[in-house]
Amino acid sequence: MKVTKHKKARKYLSFYINNFGFREPLLVLIDGTFCHAAYKARIQIEDQLKKYFLSDLKLIVTACIITETENIGGPLVAVCQLLKKYLVHKCGHEKQPISGSACIRAMTKTCKYIVATQDRDLQEWICARPGIPLFYLHNSLVPTLVQPSEASVRAAASKTQAKVQVREVDEQRLAVLKRKQGISDTSEQHPMKKVRKIKNPNPLSCKKSKKKKPTDKRDPVRDHAIEKPKRRRVRLPKHVKEQLKNNTTMC
Ligand SMILES: [Zn+2]
Repeated sequence: MKVTKHKKARKYLSFYINNFGFREPLLVLIDGTFCHAAYKARIQIEDQLKKYFLSDLKLIVTACIITETENIGGPLVAVCQLLKKYLVHKCGHEKQPISGSACIRAMTKTCKYIVATQDRDLQEWICARPGIPLFYLHNSLVPTLVQPSEASVRAAASKTQAKVQVREVDEQRLAVLKRKQGISDTSEQHPMKKVRKIKNPNPLSCKKSKKKKPTDKRDPVRDHAIEKPKRRRVRLPKHVKEQLKNNTTMC
C-alpha cells in the first residue's frame, strides 16, 4: 500500500472519530458482495483491514446477510462459510429476515459501523447519509476507505457550529451570573497575575561579613603591601658612639 493512500485512510478515519464518535475497536459491517469480491481476489479480509486502518477492529455480519448469501447458494457457498466466521450482531430480523442491504440500512441507524460493500445502490445510499464510513475494494482489488461525503462534511460543520454557539451562550450566562454575584471580570482577565507581597529584605544579604581567620597560606605580594614600614636602624659611626659613651659617664 502506498504511503499517501495510507495517510488518506488515517485522515478520513480521524474525521469520523472526531466528528461522529467512532472508537476502537472499529466495527466493520461486511455484506455478501464485499465478501464475494474479497474471496475472488484472494484477499484475507481481516489482515488487510487491520493493515489498512492500523487499528483494532471487528468484522461484523448479521443473520440477514448470511441468510441472503445462503439463499443464493451455488458459487456463494464458500462466501457464506466465510461470513459465518465473523461476529454476528443481532439485527432484530431473525424471525423474518430481510435483504442484506435493507438490514445494513437499519443497522447503521443504531450503531457506528464502517460498511464494507460492493453494492452500488447501497454505496449511494451511504454517501447521502452523514456519518457512515464506506469501505470497498476499488476495481474489486484495492482496499479503499471512501473520502467523507458532502453530507458527512456538512453535518460535521454544523455540529462544530452548534458547539461554538453553545459555548457562547454559556459564556454569556456566566457573565450575567458573575455580575449578579458581584464578581468583577478584571480578576478573570488575568487569572495568573498575582498580587506581589511586600517582602522583608533577604536576611542573607544583611548578614555581617565574617572576619577572615588568618591562614597559613599567605599571599606574599598582598602581605607586603599591607605590612607596616619597618623602622630603620641608624648605624652610628664608632667615634660618635664613643663620644656619647663619654658624655654619659661624665654625667
Ligand atoms: Zn437483519
